[in-house]
Amino acid sequence: MPTATIVRDTTSALSGWQRELAAAIRDPNELCEMLRLDADVAAAARTATGSFPLLVPRAFAARMRPGDPRDPLLLQVLPQTAETAAVAGWSADPLREADAVAAPGLVKKYAGRGLLLVTGGCAVNCRYCFRREFPYAASGATRRGVEAGLEAIADDETLTEVILSGGDPLLADDDFLGEIVARLDRIPHLRRLRIHSRLPVVLPARVTTGLARVLAGSRLSRVIVIHANHPAELDEAVAGAVRDLAALPAIILNQAVLLAGVNDSAETLAALSERLVEIGVTPYYLHLLDRVTGAAHFDVPVEQAEAIHRRLRDTLPGYAVPRLAREVPGEPAKVWIA
Ligand SMILES: *Cc1c(COP(=O)(O)O)cnc(C)c1O
Ligand code: SF4
Repeated sequence: MPTATIVRDTTSALSGWQRELAAAIRDPNELCEMLRLDADVAAAARTATGSFPLLVPRAFAARMRPGDPRDPLLLQVLPQTAETAAVAGWSADPLREADAVAAPGLVKKYAGRGLLLVTGGCAVNCRYCFRREFPYAASGATRRGVEAGLEAIADDETLTEVILSGGDPLLADDDFLGEIVARLDRIPHLRRLRIHSRLPVVLPARVTTGLARVLAGSRLSRVIVIHANHPAELDEAVAGAVRDLAALPAIILNQAVLLAGVNDSAETLAALSERLVEIGVTPYYLHLLDRVTGAAHFDVPVEQAEAIHRRLRDTLPGYAVPRLAREVPGEPAKVWIA
C-alpha cells in the first residue's frame, strides 16, 4: 500500500492537519526511542517493514504507554517479525476486490451502495489492513478515477448510497471533497453519503470547520463510520472531533477489527463500547480480520470471537453491542455471525 498521498490541486499552504500528517512518525527508531523501548524492538520493526512502511501520526503515538512493547495501540502500527512469515490461506487480495471494480474509482460489492475510491493513502499504516497489498493506482484512486467513478454512479440508478472510501477518504482536502459532494448532490437517485475514516481517531485535527462546512452543505443524509479498536484510542481530542461531526448532523458509528493481542477480550471490548457511547458513537461492527498476507498473527479463531461476543451481549445494553461480522468475497453484504 502507498504511503500517505494527499489529493490536492491547489498551491495553497498546508493546513494544520496536513502539517501534522507531514510530521507523522515514519522511522521505527524514532517511535521506539520516544516510547523508551529496547533497540531490538526497533531493529525487528525495520527488518519486518517490507513494502508497507511504518506510518503513525504523533497524536496517535502520544496515546501509547511508554515502556510497553505490548501496548495495544503500538501493536497496531509497529512492524513485527511475524509479518514476514508466509501462512497458508492468507493472501494479497483476500476479498478479491480486484473482481469488484465496476469502473475506475468505483467498487460495487454491496447491493445499493457504491464505494468511491477517493484517495489511495492513509494517515496511518495499520499492520492488519486488508488493503496493505491492494493495487490502488490500478483501481482508480486518482482524480481521473474519481471522475470516472462519479460518472458510473450517475449512470447506475440502483445506487442510493455512496461510501467515500480509499485509503482514507478524509485525506482528500476540503476543496476536492467539496467538489465530490457537490457532484453527488446533483445525482437524483442518491439519498445518503457515508464516510469510512480512521482520521477522526488517529488525526482528529482533520475534523476542521472547513470539512464540517463541506459536509453540512450536502442535501444527502450523512453517516460517518470511524474506526477505533481500543478504548485508549479515544482521548478528548477524538471526543471533540466526534462532537463536531455529530453536530452536522450525522449518524456516527464505529467499526472495530478483532485483533489478537490488541482487543481480544470481552473486558477490553466492553470498555471500548462504553467509551464510544460516552463520546456519542454507536458501536456498529466488530469485524473478523480479513486474511491478508502479513496479518496472520492478529487472528482470533471464530469460536473465540463468538464466545467474546456472547459475553458482550450478556453485559452491555443492546445498543452498545456491535454486530460480529465478516466479509465474504462475492456476497452482497457483510455476513453476520452469531
Ligand atoms: C462493511 C463495510 C462497508 C459497507 O457495509 P454495510 O453493511 O453497508 O455497513 C463499507 N465500507 C467498509 C470499509 C466496510 O468495512
Ligand atoms: S486506516 Fe484503514 S485503510 Fe488505512 S491502513 Fe488503517 S485499516 Fe487500512
